Amino acid sequence: MGRVVAIANQKGGVGKTTTAVNLAASLAIAEQRVLLVDLDPQGNATSGLGHPHREVDRGTYEVLLGEASIADVRRGTDLALLWVAPSSPDLAAASMELVDDPERFSRLKDGLAPCRDEYDYILIDCPPSLGVLTINALTAADAVLVPMQCEYYALEGLGDLTNTIERIKNGLNDRLELDGVLLTMWDARSNLSHEVAREVKKHFRVYETKIPRNVRLAEAPSHGKPVILYDASSRGSHGYLNLAREILDAADEAA
Ligand code: ATP
Ligand code: MG
Repeated sequence: MGRVVAIANQKGGVGKTTTAVNLAASLAIAEQRVLLVDLDPQGNATSGLGHPHREVDRGTYEVLLGEASIADVRRGTDLALLWVAPSSPDLAAASMELVDDPERFSRLKDGLAPCRDEYDYILIDCPPSLGVLTINALTAADAVLVPMQCEYYALEGLGDLTNTIERIKNGLNDRLELDGVLLTMWDARSNLSHEVAREVKKHFRVYETKIPRNVRLAEAPSHGKPVILYDASSRGSHGYLNLAREILDAADEAA
């Protein structure tokens, strides 16, 4: 059964989508079958994989409402082993529409259940909030990957996120674990980066791989491609290939 990993941090602009798209692509290059679930109404992961957000007629909104299956909405990408369950603009309304639904937190889990065997990894790109959408992701997930930018206020938000993870573990999903914190937009020359990294390591498991600040990572989405298909030799591309390797090695060791 595919491992479901939620990529979450309620803080905006920390590299969730960049990580979701490029880790998914790197795992697919490593011959894993990967589904990226875009659970953000902004649809950045969807357009970053070549499907303009506004042209999506059916996506994760319909899956959450039980009107479509993942198989109905999924689309291929430039990589043979990578698929995306796109976000349609309607997704923004899902939180409101589900408000009276007693099953509202397990909608995504139920939607993924029939297709988990078809993939080795299912990554979920979360929106920058701890609302119904992110709770759906955490309820469906085996593990959480938390991208974090090494800046002064970065640690403040992690407390809220870990409290949410604990609450979900104690109620909706006892399998959930924090896989690790991923340091993104890393600048090895900045003292602050090193200081924040040291502090995070005192409290959390941190991936050995750090993702460098690299302009190619920021440019690739405007071409609708993961960085590995835009500039394979860039430092950003190497960063995400290394992260995929680290995650696959850890899975081998655990097996
Ligand atoms: P949101 O909370 O809005 O969903 P996010 O957490 O998904 O944001 P991204 O969209 O991945 O964050 O990244 C925010 C911005 O930073 C984007 O413009 C992206 O291209 C850029 N970016 C992300 N990672 C890097 C990096 N390692 N180097 C350079 N730019 C980066
Ligand atoms: Mg995003």
